Amino acid sequence: MVLNTKQTTLAYRCPHCGAAVMTAVNLFHLKGSLVRLKCECGNSSMDAELSGDGKVRLKVPCIICPTPHRFTVSEKVFFESELFVMPCPYSDVNICVMGETNHVKAELSRTELELLDLMEKNGISDFEALHREAEAQFTDPQVLEIVLFVIRDLDEDGRIKCRCADDEEREYDAEVLPEGVKVTCKKCGASKIVPTNSLLDAHEFLNCDALELE
Ligand SMILES: [Zn+2]
Ligand SMILES: [Zn+2]
Ligand SMILES: [Zn+2]
Repeated sequence: MVLNTKQTTLAYRCPHCGAAVMTAVNLFHLKGSLVRLKCECGNSSMDAELSGDGKVRLKVPCIICPTPHRFTVSEKVFFESELFVMPCPYSDVNICVMGETNHVKAELSRTELELLDLMEKNGISDFEALHREAEAQFTDPQVLEIVLFVIRDLDEDGRIKCRCADDEEREYDAEVLPEGVKVTCKKCGASKIVPTNSLLDAHEFLNCDALELE
């Protein structure tokens, strides 16, 4: 009997120290619980989780952006790709890599060179500074854009909660107001305003796992 051990190598780069964090993940790990990769510096972690519909959901810290990005890939892509990369939607830098170990290592070296090049061109000396620099460059319209993007993400993932039952068909409305984005359930009327005036204001929301409307 041949055991079917579906396995992949999963990696991300720590936004704080720049180290590549890599681990082997098999279906058994994922079926058990959420898989969390942690950087040795203790400042970042990435999550992989199997969802009910046979997909793998990933929450990846971004080397450029202040907030992690969420991705969903099929189990097939996750376990059977020789190499699969996921770029930051804002900077196009690959922030998550999966696949066969040697391909993953090669891609990590390639991205590292790309980042070092980017840093040299901008006179930035280390990864921490790159992240800080990028964070400082986020202007208000970009905060709004990121917040809207994250709201869409949470909605697609079914992570917006209101007074409606979880299995009920819901539709949410996102309205841009001067003080932030107002998310409203069209069915029960529950709503919440997510502040978008600055990155600091939006910080709590951007790091949350679910949005609860009241
Ligand atoms: Zn680190
Ligand atoms: Zn990003
Ligand atoms: Zn509702």
